[in-house]
Amino acid sequence: MCDFAEAIVKQWRDDMNRRQTLGNLNSVDVSRCSLEAQPKHSMVNHDKESATIRVGISSCLLGESARFDGRHKRDAYITGTLSRWFEFVPLCPEVAIGLGIPREPIQMVARAGEQPRAVGVHTPTLDATEALLAFARMVAPGLSDICGYIFKSGSPSCGMQGVVIHSPTGAPVARGSGIFAQALMERYPLLPVEEESRLGDPLLRERFIERVFACHRHREQTLKNSG
Ligand code: SF4
Repeated sequence: MCDFAEAIVKQWRDDMNRRQTLGNLNSVDVSRCSLEAQPKHSMVNHDKESATIRVGISSCLLGESARFDGRHKRDAYITGTLSRWFEFVPLCPEVAIGLGIPREPIQMVARAGEQPRAVGVHTPTLDATEALLAFARMVAPGLSDICGYIFKSGSPSCGMQGVVIHSPTGAPVARGSGIFAQALMERYPLLPVEEESRLGDPLLRERFIERVFACHRHREQTLKNSG
């Protein structure tokens, strides 16, 4: 972890310890968020010491074999460093809507003048767009207490930005966000979001971690004021 992020973490933990000592800790009530709509494969670790900072994540980044080819995209920085501080809420939209593992890969395709849709690479009539949007609407209320989301880059479902959009003939014509990610970002426009590829940049990583902790501090303060 970089010096800046370590300083943030240390400041936060010192603050938490001080308030625990004073007996006035108003921790986030993680039980408030049941996430009833999350898919069965999702894992939420409630036993961790740092269980109060909840961050959504594309489940394949944690090592879950959820990708179309049955593999995963485990990210060592996320699982080795960030998981010490964040309680991850993993979701795989494509598995959740029943596409299965393995499955036909999907891609973003846009017809002229229309919004991009997530359709099968080999079977264009396989259109997952509406199901992904419905899944986002279903899980969004249960994600109201997360303080960040880490998306899988390049995914037609989870990509935060820069996802290749093809023409109906297969030519790359633009770039945009994955269907699920876009819907979630529209629902929570102030939520700190990043994707794993950008977390390799020290500056972007620091900004993301800083925003997650700021969100958490704001939530704590809001709970404290309302309690
Ligand atoms: S990128 Fe998203 S949809 Fe694709 S395997 Fe990972 S979590 Fe599932």
